[in-house]
Amino acid sequence: MIEADLKYCPKCKDEYRADIELCADCGVVLITGTDMLTIKNQTNIRKNSRLGDILPGEDIVPVHKGALNELKDIEKELKRENIGVIINKEGGGSCSGSC
Ligand SMILES: [Zn+2]
Repeated sequence: MIEADLKYCPKCKDEYRADIELCADCGVVLITGTDMLTIKNQTNIRKNSRLGDILPGEDIVPVHKGALNELKDIEKELKRENIGVIINKEGGGSCSGSC
């Protein structure tokens, strides 16, 4: 739970009183709870703005090569983050057993 009138370390997420300027552990400048909330919201907006589908003409980036069941796990993981996934078989030929 983030309090708008407290301060937070952007690195270790530790909570500090409003009059503290630096994180005791990391030595980085603290940000206000308001800033923390803004950053959190931006992350959510970015996630929600993803379509979750890959449209024609979109760039496709190969992220992983591996066995199909392993790829299925990664696909699940990415779909939870609303990222579109295509599982592709390398090369041609028929798809029997291990694609
Ligand atoms: Zn810290």
